Formats: sequence, structure tokens, C-alpha cells
Amino acid sequence: MTRFALTPVLAEASAAGRAVAAFNVIQIEHAEAYAAAAERVGLPVVMQISENCVRYHGSLAPIAAATLAIADACTMPVVVHLDHAEDVSLVEEAVRLGLTSVMFDGSTLADDENRAVTRRVVALCGSAGISVEAELGEVGGKDGVHAPGVRTDPDDAARFVADTGVDALAVAVGSSHAMTDRTAELDTDLIAALRSSVPVPLVLHGSSGVPDSGLVAAVGAGMTKVNIATHLNQVFTRAMTARLEASPTVDTRTYLGAARDAVTDEAARLLALLALH
Ligand SMILES: [Zn+2]
Repeated sequence: MTRFALTPVLAEASAAGRAVAAFNVIQIEHAEAYAAAAERVGLPVVMQISENCVRYHGSLAPIAAATLAIADACTMPVVVHLDHAEDVSLVEEAVRLGLTSVMFDGSTLADDENRAVTRRVVALCGSAGISVEAELGEVGGKDGVHAPGVRTDPDDAARFVADTGVDALAVAVGSSHAMTDRTAELDTDLIAALRSSVPVPLVLHGSSGVPDSGLVAAVGAGMTKVNIATHLNQVFTRAMTARLEASPTVDTRTYLGAARDAVTDEAARLLALLALH
């Protein structure tokens, strides 16, 4: 199977009433785990590289090359997505490197500037067949639209999609980034209202803080892409630490391998959970 743009993968999932999980790649082991998980459960997966991850590695090209190679070798459809890009030149680089989807995050920009830059990103990606996800950035605050208490208005969301032409929209319905406990309560009535007013697939960010039952309810109400990062980082770190404590070693393959196995198991479980409908 080859790499896919986000749009057809989400369209198929939406028609079937399920959602696609999007997991963040930081080390190469993450991408290996997600490919193995997708093959185990027979479902597509989105592998995301965030602008923060690019900053960590110092550039996009090496981690993108590794992720794209793993995606191309996977027997299931894989979307390779640039997550939370605030820099248009990074989007241009992602297009050149062959990523198939980008999220442009203009949430720190003034509303009219966010719309204008998002339109520009849609134009430059559209000609290359690359999907664009955006988030509605009218609400300020440290965490943008994902701050607890912030909610996306269905009419605003519909206008934003019409103004920009994006292929998917991240909305604020009660989750928040980087939560390390799974206690967030989502507003499923709002998800349903957004689903009926917004013509493109809805994306849930900050899903690590949402319990399994909340994720299933969110998909039932109309979420089609569910981003999970922090939760899998916890799984990775716990497994690595446990292995190192049980048998101290300098062979990095031993404990990174244990972490990769644990992430594969949990990613496979989450992929299947989001496809329950
Ligand atoms: Zn996010």
C-alpha cells in the first residue's frame, strides 16, 4: 500500500461511521509501532510529525524520510501529516518532501490573518494533492481553541471552512492538549451540532485526556480524526523505564524495543476502539 492523502482516508471512515487515529512520531520507533499496529488490526493510520518534533530533531527531512519509508512499506493506508505547523515555509518543505497532509495552525494569528494564510496554505497544498487541516483560531488564550472551557461555535466553524477551503477542521469541544490523566468530558451535543453544520471531517485534538468511553461517544457524535500523542508517550516511557529498572543495560535496542512493543499494543487497541461503529 502506498501513502494516502488525509481526505480520502477520512471520507471512507466517515462514510463507515468510524474515526481514524492520528498518532505522533517523535522517534523512528513510533512510526514502526504505528505501522505494525495498523497491520495488526487492518485499519488505516495517520502518522503525524509536529512542528515541535521538527524543532527537536533540528529539521524535518530526516524524520520525514524515515516515516515516509515506513509508511510506504506498510500494507495498510498511511497518511503522513505535518501537525501544528505555524510556519508556512515548513508547510512548503513538507510538500517538497512528499508528506500527504498538513495541519496549519494559525490560532495565534488575528482571525483575518489566520483565514488569509490558511487560504494560501490550501492553495499551495491543493495543487500538490495534499490535504489541509486547520483549527478555528478566533479564541485566544495560551492553549488556543484547545484550552479547557473554550468551545467552537457551529456557525463560525461553517464560515471558516467556506472562507478557507480546508479539508478537515479541528474543533474545541472540551479536550485540552497534553493531559496526563483521562478525565476530560467532551460536549457530544456540540460535536453533533458541528457535524451537521460543517461540511468537512471534524478533528479532535487533545484526545489523550479523554477516556475510552468518551472517545467512542465522540466518534458516534461525528468526530472523524482523533489525535492521540501524550497518552502514547506515557505508554512508551513507562515500558522503557520498567525494562531498564528490571534489567539495566547500555543496549538501547533493549529498552526502546520494549517501548515500541508497548506502543504497538496500545496503538492497535486505540485504532480498533475508534473503528467500533
Ligand atoms: Zn493538537
